[in-house]
Amino acid sequence: MPFSSLYIHVPFCERKCNYCAFESAVPREGDADLWLEMLEREFALRLAAAGRPRLATCYFGGGTPTVLSGPQWLSLTKLVERYFDFMPEAEVTVEANPNSLAAEHLLTWRDWRVTRVSIGVQSFDDVELSQMGRLHSARQAYGAVSAALAAGFSVSADFIFGLPHQSFANWGRTLREAVRCGLSHISLYQLSLEEGTPWASLDKDTLGDGYAAYRWAQWYLPRKGYRQYEVANFARQGRESRHNINYWREGEYLGAGPGAAGYLAGLRYKNFGSLRRWAAALADGELPVAESEQLPFERSAREAAVLALRMTSGLDRREFAERYGRQALDSLSASLQKFPRDLYEDDERGIRLTKKGMRVANLIWAELV
Ligand code: SF4
Repeated sequence: MPFSSLYIHVPFCERKCNYCAFESAVPREGDADLWLEMLEREFALRLAAAGRPRLATCYFGGGTPTVLSGPQWLSLTKLVERYFDFMPEAEVTVEANPNSLAAEHLLTWRDWRVTRVSIGVQSFDDVELSQMGRLHSARQAYGAVSAALAAGFSVSADFIFGLPHQSFANWGRTLREAVRCGLSHISLYQLSLEEGTPWASLDKDTLGDGYAAYRWAQWYLPRKGYRQYEVANFARQGRESRHNINYWREGEYLGAGPGAAGYLAGLRYKNFGSLRRWAAALADGELPVAESEQLPFERSAREAAVLALRMTSGLDRREFAERYGRQALDSLSASLQKFPRDLYEDDERGIRLTKKGMRVANLIWAELV
C-alpha cells in the first residue's frame, strides 16, 4: 500500500529555547516565502512517480508552525491541496506555541482540515518557563489552550520534566493544571541535555528527579481519564495521535522540509537541516537528502520491536513472526530475558513493557538495538 502519512517541517522559531536541538532557526526576511516555494518543488520531485497520495494523517511540526502568518498558512494549505487528497476522517495536526498562536491561525485551520492542535506548553510555572527561554507565560499557555478548544480542535500539549531544580510539587502543579484546562492528549518528555545547546553543560545533579516525576504521571493521569498508550503519551479515549501511531507501527510516511525524516519503500531518509542547503538542492532539481539508509533485515527487526514496545499495546507475536521470522522473535525474547520479569510481559498474545518497564525504557532499547 502506498504511504498515507505526511510530515511537513516548519523550520522557524522566534528564538531558540535553551534546551532545544531541533532543526529550527530564527527566520530572516523572505525565508518563509523561500521555504514555501521550495516545499512545492520537494512535493513535485517526490511525487513525480507516486501520483496523488491519499492521506490518513498529516502533521505540521517544527520549529514553530505558528511563526507563519495567516496568509502564509493559507498558501501552505493551498499548496498541500494541489498535491494530496485526504481520506474523509483524516487527522491533521499542527504544532503551535502559546505566544504566536493567533485567532487568524485558528480560523484558517478550522476552515481547512485541521483536527488537532498540539501546543508547546512545557510547564505551567512562570519561573520554569523563563529558565527554559520560552517566550510565553503560564497565562498565555492557558489562553492558547482555551482558544484552541473553543475553536473546536482536539488539543494536545507537551510538557517537560526533570528541569533544573524542578521540585516534585511544581511538577505536580503543572500536571494538575494540564488536566484542569481540558486537554484531550498529553505528551511528557524528560529533559535531555543536548550538545550544542546553552544547557549542554548544565550540572546533571541540579536536575529534578525524572524517574519520580514520570512515575507519578503514570499514576495520576490514568486516574484522570488519560490512558497511557505510549512511553511519552497519554490520551482520553479515542484521542490518541494516529500520525504517531503510524510511526510506531513502522508505517511509511513522506517527510518534507528542512531536517524532515521520511520512510518510503523501505528506505529511511533525512533531509538537509539547513534551510539554505535544502533549498539549494531543490533549486538544482535534486532531492534534498542528507542521509538515507535501507536497514539490514536484522536491524530492521530490532527497530520494529523497539517501536512496537514503545506502545502499551506492545508487539503482536504472530504479526512480528510473519514479517521477520520466528528466529527474530526468539532472539528478541532471549534479549528481554536479561531484564527482571516485572519490566515486561511475554505471553502467547505478545510482548509488552509494564509501567515499570516504561520507566526504564531507554535501558531496554539499548539492549535491543
Ligand atoms: S519553540 Fe520548540 S522548536 Fe523552537 S526552539 Fe523552542 S523547543 Fe525548539
